[in-house]
Amino acid sequence: METAADMKQKALANVYDVQLYIDGQFVDAESNQQFDNISPFTNEKINSVAAGSKEDIDKAAKAAKTAFKGAWGKMKQSERIYYINRIADLIDEHIEELAPLESYDTGLPISITTKMVSRASQNFRFYAEMVASRMVGEAYQVDDEFLNYTIHKPVGVAGLITPWNAPFMLETWKIAPALATGNTVILKPAEWSPLTANKLAEIIDKAGLPKGVFNVVHGYGETAGASLVQHEEVQLISFTGETTTGSEIMKNGADALKRFSMELGGKSPIIIFEDADMERALDACTWGIFSFNGERCTANSRLYIHEDAAEKFIAALKERVDNIQVGDPLDKSTQVGPLIHIDHYKTVKSYLNLAVKEGCEVYQGSIPEQFMRGNYIPPTILLNADHSMQVVQEEIFGPVLAVMTFRDEEEVIELANDTRYGLAGYVWTKDIQRGHRVSQAIDSGMLWINSQNVRDLRTPFGGARHSGIGREGGYYAFDFYTEMQVIHVALGDHRIPQFGKK
Ligand code: NAD
Repeated sequence: METAADMKQKALANVYDVQLYIDGQFVDAESNQQFDNISPFTNEKINSVAAGSKEDIDKAAKAAKTAFKGAWGKMKQSERIYYINRIADLIDEHIEELAPLESYDTGLPISITTKMVSRASQNFRFYAEMVASRMVGEAYQVDDEFLNYTIHKPVGVAGLITPWNAPFMLETWKIAPALATGNTVILKPAEWSPLTANKLAEIIDKAGLPKGVFNVVHGYGETAGASLVQHEEVQLISFTGETTTGSEIMKNGADALKRFSMELGGKSPIIIFEDADMERALDACTWGIFSFNGERCTANSRLYIHEDAAEKFIAALKERVDNIQVGDPLDKSTQVGPLIHIDHYKTVKSYLNLAVKEGCEVYQGSIPEQFMRGNYIPPTILLNADHSMQVVQEEIFGPVLAVMTFRDEEEVIELANDTRYGLAGYVWTKDIQRGHRVSQAIDSGMLWINSQNVRDLRTPFGGARHSGIGREGGYYAFDFYTEMQVIHVALGDHRIPQFGKK
């Protein structure tokens, strides 16, 4: 079996200074500025990254617009779909490089990144298939007078702004529908996870797409990101990230009347009734909060356990917390790795201090001595939590679970809905009527009954309230990435008013 050292070798073989990818070429930023990319595992520098800004976004927008008006825009759909499938094949061919690189860059365990990279190729294949088979219009017949029909047209240049928590998968989740529906793309990856975005640019380059169709501009959110949002030639912005950033972006894009899709933060509840299959609920609950190092938007970060089952469940939860494998992200047996960046580590740490001040009992696993240089937070549960606390109301985005008990259905629905978020939710009960009833009463975009988060790519993905605006996924992505046009055709001599006729 490959060791962590073997994986590190594989990652290092693909580490070099990261440039921008504009108009089919890897280039430095116009300003020649760079920033350092830091390892979550050692807090040492990994490499330098070109820091793009307005000038680079201008160049990318010009290239993307030219490609949209030219080669890509004029291409037949079947040929475009060939390229989308070709990208999927090339991703699969490079899994062995991509997964270690992503783990090295982000601290996500290799077991997770391996799955996420194969999800990335599925995203391309899925949208190739969806566009070929489901991007269809509607026709409305009006007696013998009219036939009115709709078509989907690509919007133009799509600006995609992504976070660091599952970079490669989330980037492809947006790029695949944007390209498959015929748009051209400028990707602005998160500054803390730049490596695999450039690997994707290499793959897309190798797939032979016309130049300018896909561009990557690295850089800070406030410079490269903001310029992308404000650019007149960029018709739409698909954003995934924090709620506060989303609202800032909407303000910045207002003058240019930008079209937005917003996938934002979450503080999702898991509700476990006394009749649930406790062993499976425990598996799902621990995985749902501690996988992805707790940096998962749909994490079940609030547990509501029925008071009759609480004592036993919490004891079992503590045992799991004690035994979760905290380790080197490149080690195949690792379940929890280091957080992405020292700044994020400090934020999560400050929430743990706050939890104590607010009156929680903080129960934690441990970090092996040899990993102390990394940004490790051990799996943590906050006991005696309640809804007056910030640690219950706010997204912590680390391996931290707030634990609460409840007495009845009405109470738990009220508690579940008592945050500003509404991304996901999880309900565990063997009473199927109660399962549906409670699920439908929860204000979230997505809900799972008797399951952890298992994605079905055909279904709408997105959040309610402060967790998002709009839905991506399935054919719902067509609403965002295409402009629907209706064509009204007169079939005969319907009446036309005759103004001014004598
Ligand atoms: P973030 O908001 O800090 O950054 C996300 C991206 O936005 C980065 O690329 C950043 O450079 C860019 N950005 C920052 N300021 C900007 C600005 N003014 N203009 C344009 N771009 C700007 O988020 P993060 O810390 O990278 O990611 C974690 C957050 O993402 C969490 O809140 C998590 O819940 C959320 N998330 C949501 C989903 C979802 O589908 N709802 C999925 C994953 C992550």
